[in-house]
Amino acid sequence: MIQSSIANTPSLVRIVGAGFTGLACVLMALDNPHITRVEMMDPSVSRDSYNRGASSASAGLMHSLTRKGKEIWKGNDGYIASLNLIDQVELNTMRQIKQKRSKIIRKGGFNNNNNNNNNNDNDNEDCIIEGGLIVDPLEYLYGLWELAEIRAKELNKELIWDTKSLNSYDELLNLSTNINNNNGIIICTMGAGISNKIWGDDLPISYELGRNIIIDNKYNLNDALLNGEYVVPMHNYQKIIFGATHERDNDKKNVNEHYTNLRNKINKKLYPLTDLLWPEIKYNDNNENILPLNCEIRKGIRVQSQRTHLGRIPIVDKHSKIDNCYIATGFGSRGLIHHALVAEMVINAAINNDLSYIPKEMRIK
Ligand SMILES: Cc1cc2nc3c(=O)[nH]c(=O)nc-3n(C[C@H](O)[C@H](O)[C@H](O)COP(=O)(O)OP(=O)(O)OC[C@H]3O[C@@H](n4cnc5c(N)ncnc54)[C@H](O)[C@@H]3O)c2cc1C
Repeated sequence: MIQSSIANTPSLVRIVGAGFTGLACVLMALDNPHITRVEMMDPSVSRDSYNRGASSASAGLMHSLTRKGKEIWKGNDGYIASLNLIDQVELNTMRQIKQKRSKIIRKGGFNNNNNNNNNNDNDNEDCIIEGGLIVDPLEYLYGLWELAEIRAKELNKELIWDTKSLNSYDELLNLSTNINNNNGIIICTMGAGISNKIWGDDLPISYELGRNIIIDNKYNLNDALLNGEYVVPMHNYQKIIFGATHERDNDKKNVNEHYTNLRNKINKKLYPLTDLLWPEIKYNDNNENILPLNCEIRKGIRVQSQRTHLGRIPIVDKHSKIDNCYIATGFGSRGLIHHALVAEMVINAAINNDLSYIPKEMRIK
């Protein structure tokens, strides 16, 4: 270990990255009786603006089932933990985060054995995903931030927002020494901002860019429809999100192709009205501006863990060389269901210096 072991229970937590996971960590840390000061470090967010990170691009779909209708790993535990946190935010900030009128409908049912042979997703009947929830991602992010400020005040603890970014392994080392001198720990929840260069060790992750298209909800869509792609009512039913593209590092397709594919899939599998809402794709001379002028694009990078027999599951661990540094990443497309549960695990493990809080399946092999 580069750092000597932490002598006492830490009193300071520095969290790097203010997405769903980092903000949930802030709240869990504030709630811990040993912690007197929490610092959040993120260059691109403020109380009133979110312009980076996957969380702000999320479509807000939260449910615990796989495409085959089975529970994802820790899906039910995650659902309960997330719902609890969302309820706390709604109660304390008066923000409306859950879209209460909406159901999540899986078009063509689940991909179970009945349609294995013909590979046609739409052969089964549509079904409602029980317990599925639609969350307004920006309302939730602002709400988490506000709740952290409320909690810090109530509990008389220091809460610091720092707009610096963490850019290299050397910076991580320096930070860990400074923090250690103040009896503190670091939690890296930087989403796609983390890399082997910054972590200084191999992380079993890959990155995938996703884009969503947001337009006016002219057809009063009430429920979310999904089947791989999705169409989701958003912003108190004023908007619809169409999503998402899946653009990998080595993916040579240009963005126009990604959008064309997305529209075709949505038309075919989900929502034939897309053609009306999303008129013929037009290209300008630079191959840009292919979408209706009134639409907004949100993009974010998903951090994918490796596929295992349990599916892709988040990665939570302590640094192999820096004793007071931890990571929580690899949430893929399911950050809403796992963020609160994982935040609790990593905060408990770090504050108590006890890795048994983290299931071994989540640790870096
Ligand atoms: C298009 C799209 C749609 C999605 N839809 C859904 C959905 O419907 N349901 C669902 O559950 N999940 C969805 N996801 C996945 C979900 O958004 C992510 O799993 C989740 O947001 C991950 O949260 P996070 O806090 O780990 O990371 P992020 O939200 O990426 O947050 C990381 C934060 O770290 C900061 N940061 C980055 N680099 C640095 C640095 N060097 N120093 C300091 N700070 C840094 C960033 O500014 C950012 O604020 C979607 C993702 C995308 C891209």
